[in-house]
Amino acid sequence: MKVDLLGRRGVAARLLSLVLLFPGASFAQWFSDTQSIMGTRVHAEIWHEDARVAQQVLHDVMQEMRRIEAVYSPQIENSELSRLNRDAPAGWVRASDEMLDLLAKSAQMSELTGGAFDITFASVGRYYDYRERRRPDRAKIDSRIEAINYRYVELDFKKRRVRFAHPGVYVDLGGIAKGYAVDRCIGIVRASGIEQASVAAGGDSRIIGDRRGEPWTVGVRDPRNPSAMVVVLPLTDTAVSTSGDYERFFVEDGVRYHHILDPATGDSARESWSVTILGPEATYTDALSTSVFVLGPIAGMQLIDRLDGIDAIVIDKTGNLLYSSDLAELKP
Ligand code: ADP
Ligand code: MG
Repeated sequence: MKVDLLGRRGVAARLLSLVLLFPGASFAQWFSDTQSIMGTRVHAEIWHEDARVAQQVLHDVMQEMRRIEAVYSPQIENSELSRLNRDAPAGWVRASDEMLDLLAKSAQMSELTGGAFDITFASVGRYYDYRERRRPDRAKIDSRIEAINYRYVELDFKKRRVRFAHPGVYVDLGGIAKGYAVDRCIGIVRASGIEQASVAAGGDSRIIGDRRGEPWTVGVRDPRNPSAMVVVLPLTDTAVSTSGDYERFFVEDGVRYHHILDPATGDSARESWSVTILGPEATYTDALSTSVFVLGPIAGMQLIDRLDGIDAIVIDKTGNLLYSSDLAELKP
């Protein structure tokens, strides 16, 4: 736990007693926490006058991240998603309302993107291991690719159950779950009356309010030198998601194999190096960053320019920086 301005508990406690002595006084400050959850760095920052409340909210945020990981991770054997992956190819399986909702949102994103976003990509994607530099060979891809089709994930809202209409279907929510988790956590922060905060899970973040009269800043990394930023965006009340080919990848014979797959080929999408999406909700910016990455800069920007309140910054496969029309108008 890191307290920005007044590091030690003792100081916070003394401030608290001052607040009690002078009930009208406010000693608001930033509180933040960073933890490793869902295989990524989770960071939350909130502005509050009461250290005890602030720490409770940060604790609740981290708890929510862990809860979501426990439900949606395909790697955790007893997660709800693992249960679906195991049993839903054989027939109907009971599912939580929350799971049904996220699967429905995923289907909605698949429809919107003409199938560029497809959680059944993992029917092939499960055979890649980027850390071990392992990938499926041609024969493997050919034999599994027919199981990639979001329409095979059938949802029965009345009886609250799910089935996969093809025996080879395997679902991974890695393209939407972190954004969803960020939105849920912003909900928790808001419910406790906090009006200035940021929550991030890896490349997906959302901010509410500003930073004491100043905008928050969110950077777009240089995909070929990820410790450097190519753009820094001043933002308030926005969700931002970045998908890049530099997060999880290996290079073999000069070809980069990374974790964003084109559902049409079962191979990594290679028209872009990175895609950043801005919008009101992280669930959608997350899914859209993956989608635009798959669609490529031309079809991707056409989609973004059709959507109200959504913007994009794409770095294409030659390193060119491209802006959606609304952002291009704002550029100096
Ligand atoms: P991350 O923050 O994990 O880098 P991204 O938003 O860049 O996430 O999405 C990449 C993740 O999305 C992959 O790790 C995988 O789980 C999932 N994914 C990959 N390709 C697709 C696709 N075509 N449709 C939906 N999800 C995908
Ligand atoms: Mg994404």
